Amino acid sequence: MTTISPGGHIGILGDGQLGRMMAIAAAEMGYFVHIYGPEKDSPAAQVSHRSTVASYSDRDALSAFAKSVDVVTLEFENIPTETVDFLSGIVPVRPGAKVLEITQDRLLEKSFINSLGIGTAIFSNVESMEELIQAVRQVKTPAILKTRRLGYDGKGQVKITGANDLDKVWADMNNTPSILEGLVSFKMEISVIVARNPAGEIAAFCPVENRHKNHILDVTLAPADVPDWLAEKAVEIAEKIAMKLDLVGMIAVEMFVTKDNQILVNELAPRPHNSGHWTIEGCATSQFRQIIRAVCGLPLGDPTRHSNAVMTNLIGDDVQRWGTLLEDPENSLHLYGKAEARDGRKMGHVTRLYPLNQKPKA
Ligand code: AMP
Repeated sequence: MTTISPGGHIGILGDGQLGRMMAIAAAEMGYFVHIYGPEKDSPAAQVSHRSTVASYSDRDALSAFAKSVDVVTLEFENIPTETVDFLSGIVPVRPGAKVLEITQDRLLEKSFINSLGIGTAIFSNVESMEELIQAVRQVKTPAILKTRRLGYDGKGQVKITGANDLDKVWADMNNTPSILEGLVSFKMEISVIVARNPAGEIAAFCPVENRHKNHILDVTLAPADVPDWLAEKAVEIAEKIAMKLDLVGMIAVEMFVTKDNQILVNELAPRPHNSGHWTIEGCATSQFRQIIRAVCGLPLGDPTRHSNAVMTNLIGDDVQRWGTLLEDPENSLHLYGKAEARDGRKMGHVTRLYPLNQKPKA
């Protein structure tokens, strides 16, 4: 087990805001960060020691990147597994290819979760029109057809009700391998973020509530307003998933809480997560410092919350509110250095803290 001491070099695959906040935390802890991603002047590269702008299939660039760092981690789970396999021949990659293989494919991910005795929405694999008809019979409507790979923030998803023309739905999917998922009638969406280091030490942040707008995270409330037993169960589920994946790094487990207080896992993200941004101000150790500790083989920090918090995303033109937001000294404003405020693009976020005895309100 290698420990990477301060002064060491950390490579990050991916160049967005998560990489940016990881790089800032790493620099605060005395590390040098090298960002690898496709975009020039990216949010992460702006705050890092070094950056390589190249595609994930450029073997020469990957090789030079791997040789320049002591460990590689990622801020984006859809890195091709071949890229991670190639890098792993030169330098430790945390988390590794096996974790990515499972979390990049909704069918493998849900099957893995069920194999641990943990519930998900009912689902069925769909690779043809016949399988779609079969799946609708089994899963029943309303349901959601989701591409198995590369979907996020509601992309690659179609809601299926009794009224859909299935021929048209399948034609629109272009034969992309998909799953049909039963629509869960949930009362709340929550997530738990867990870190695990190479020694197997594990630490979880408290469950938080996530509210979405147009399929994109809008607000996170910390903690989620759920009974203690349910919060404990959610943490247990997330820790079990991290352990069974033999994860080194961080994983966010998104879950539905149903009306009868059942927990169903929706999705895994093997990296820091938007629903953990509040930990920068709200916890003894932020999710960004925690993942740096985990991938460097350091003891994990204390994830305890010292304050309640509300985190609100600034999407697209919301970022124009920065001046007004700064007029309130209790707002902690984070902007990601993105030049263009496109629709649906995460431009920044704002966090407000509340005393532990006060329920956070959106
Ligand atoms: P996903 O891309 O799977 O994370 O889905 C994005 C959002 O769509 C989730 O956070 C939910 O709000 C909603 N959603 C996804 N799958 C389901 C489902 N099976 N039942 C109800 N809502 C869902």
